[in-house]
Amino acid sequence: MPNAQNPPEKMRFQLTLRRRGISDQAVLRAMDEIPREVFVEAADRADAYRDSALPIACGQTISQPFVVAYMTEQLHPQKQHRVLEIGTGSGYQAAILSRLCGQVLTIERYRTLADSARARLERLGCDNVEVMLGDGFDVPASAGRFDRIIVTAAMERIPESFTQLLEPGGILIAPVGPPHGVQTLVRVVRTDAGLVHKELVDVRFVPALPGIAREL
Ligand code: SAH
Repeated sequence: MPNAQNPPEKMRFQLTLRRRGISDQAVLRAMDEIPREVFVEAADRADAYRDSALPIACGQTISQPFVVAYMTEQLHPQKQHRVLEIGTGSGYQAAILSRLCGQVLTIERYRTLADSARARLERLGCDNVEVMLGDGFDVPASAGRFDRIIVTAAMERIPESFTQLLEPGGILIAPVGPPHGVQTLVRVVRTDAGLVHKELVDVRFVPALPGIAREL
């Protein structure tokens, strides 16, 4: 339960997540403990606990809290997991994951976003998160394999190179669909019998683009 000293907007935030179907207590706790106001632009602080996506630097967005909670819940994160996030953005999703997993590697193609996310995560003491400036379509082989992969930018299809990064039993979640329309959240589980796909809910994410951004 959110603690009694929480301001009303944080109580409402928890209620909205529960009402929309989030029931995993560890996920709700992480959403309660990580201050979203730290991850939004200064001008949007008053709206930090509304259930909506908000603009951040470089024309990108911090995802809607429900979508962050839902994707996290669907990943079934555990303390021993190594997790890869593609699309650091503000660093908010990575901060939530840092509470629930052993280690998080998050990759962002904009230097400005990677640097500010790294600074926020350090300030919050999320010391099991590594923020890497890079192209999520080209994860260095030295990064190894992951128990969980979360893609937070839209792609038309899930490249085989992503599912190859999954450990046996691993789960990947990604928004799949047209870059500027509605995508479907797809969950892929790597089982002994092969990859099992499941379509979850409709979402809207900014597109995944190849390469490190040339602008800052
Ligand atoms: N998870 C973020 C929101 C992601 S917005 C949060 O919690 O705030 C999507 C992000 O993916 C953007 O910052 C965008 O720059 C980044 N992105 C898009 N294509 C990418 C790629 N190929 N590699 C790494 N990051 C990418």
